[in-house]
Amino acid sequence: MQIVKTIEELRPIIKGWRKEGLSVGLVPTMGYLHEGHKSLIVKAVSENDKVVVSDFVNPTQFGANEDLSSYPRDIDRDATLCEAAGASLIFHPEPEEMYAPDNCTFVDMNKLTKGLCGKTRPSHFSGVCTVVSKLFHIVTPDLAYFGEKDAQQLAVIRRMVRDMNFDIKIVGCPIVREEDGLAMSSRNTYLNQEERQAALILHKSLTLGENMIKAGERDAIKVKNAIIKNIQTEPLAQIDYVEVVDAETLEPVESIENSILVATAVYIGKTRLIDNFSKDLEGNGR
Ligand code: AMP
Repeated sequence: MQIVKTIEELRPIIKGWRKEGLSVGLVPTMGYLHEGHKSLIVKAVSENDKVVVSDFVNPTQFGANEDLSSYPRDIDRDATLCEAAGASLIFHPEPEEMYAPDNCTFVDMNKLTKGLCGKTRPSHFSGVCTVVSKLFHIVTPDLAYFGEKDAQQLAVIRRMVRDMNFDIKIVGCPIVREEDGLAMSSRNTYLNQEERQAALILHKSLTLGENMIKAGERDAIKVKNAIIKNIQTEPLAQIDYVEVVDAETLEPVESIENSILVATAVYIGKTRLIDNFSKDLEGNGR
């Protein structure tokens, strides 16, 4: 498995695959890979002839006071995981390779990027849309794989692909969790032992909300408030948001019908964690 650092080197490799009639899957990541990322790569390998994993801590999606410099990085470890998962190639550019010093072009989106994580991270999704567009142009994949862990990102990318007519199919992949329920994340490495335990409150509280819906509750505010109340029982947790939104438009809903997303962002100490679940009530007779 090759590690390629430049666009100039990557393009002829992809063109060579294309000449042979091979299909190409892309798994965009920021590296420090875990089983969640691996599940995306394994799915991509099962559905494509060649799979490119991009491994790039994208500076434009970090706010000024966020964790760009401390974000964990380990390309050797990532390469071992990618190889074991069957990836064909890792694209691992330096920031200077992706952004010219005088870069002034960005891809932005309204509406879907304004709520949820966009409220406290106003430039985040512009950075995400910009880097993913660039990766789509560089790798020209047939299919691209994204985790439901970042549910807003997945909805934003789906909308960008539709609105900008990218000829790429977006594949969403389920959240992979630790045995105790914590959603896997590269940022979990920031947690000390006490915080790691406290972090379980996200999944526990979401599960409580999910069970309310399963039991027939359709009032979104009641579900939201029950989740908030449960998170507040954990002294180390500070809520950024808990929202019940339409899964496609990401607009808040009052009543739980059709396809909804229940998403939360919570600070555990200084570490901001996200988690969610979605429910598709269509077809259950309601
Ligand atoms: P990241 O490196 O955090 O930017 O994540 C790269 C991709 O992996 C994104 O599409 C994420 O949604 C996905 N991902 C991260 N963690 C998980 C997880 N626990 N389960 C499923 N997908 C994940």
